[in-house]
Amino acid sequence: MPGESPRPGRDPLREARPVRLPRPSLPLRVHAFDPYSQTSGPGTRAVVWLQGCTLGCPGCWTPETHPPGGHEVTVDELFAHIAGLGGRIEGVTVSGGEPLQQFRPLLRLLTRIREETSLSVLVFTGFGWEEIVRMPGAAALRDRVDVLLAGRYVRDLRLGRGLRGSSNKTVHLFTDRYTAADLDAVPDAEVVIRADGRLAITGIDPPPRDE
Ligand code: SF4
Repeated sequence: MPGESPRPGRDPLREARPVRLPRPSLPLRVHAFDPYSQTSGPGTRAVVWLQGCTLGCPGCWTPETHPPGGHEVTVDELFAHIAGLGGRIEGVTVSGGEPLQQFRPLLRLLTRIREETSLSVLVFTGFGWEEIVRMPGAAALRDRVDVLLAGRYVRDLRLGRGLRGSSNKTVHLFTDRYTAADLDAVPDAEVVIRADGRLAITGIDPPPRDE
């Protein structure tokens, strides 16, 4: 077409500006998903266990969540699944594995939950609060979470009840949606019948394992 030919004597490749391509969205690596848990925070909650943790707390109840891997799920797919649960859940709990080791896609999921639903958000992390505040994106995380339970699991400080697991863990109520009493009222364990007929006991603070 007239006007689109390169001018004589000039190298169009040298003049070309780099094209910025959109970064592909990182998927979330998911270990397991329970749509209706009664033991992972106040009310009935969808629980996402993310895969991968390098923190290595002795006595961790979920060593199978430590290796990388898991099921790769896009943020949009996971959000659609959660949103499809509609009014049957009060909120979403994210556990692990270590959720904050998938910070970017986790934040995108929590952003969609915050902006597009009225679901509450509770996050368990093995990082301590003093570590979290040094992470890029800590303020954004805080804006998208109602309750954060933070800190390594310390077997010698095991509580045996409640959501904290061990007494060194700290509880952060970032909104007024829940009180400490609401968290105390969460059942310690429940028995779940899996789709294949197997029974499973779920809860935050099961009996400790040996190393
Ligand atoms: S941070 Fe959580 S998943 Fe990771 S080792 Fe500690 S207790 Fe286990």
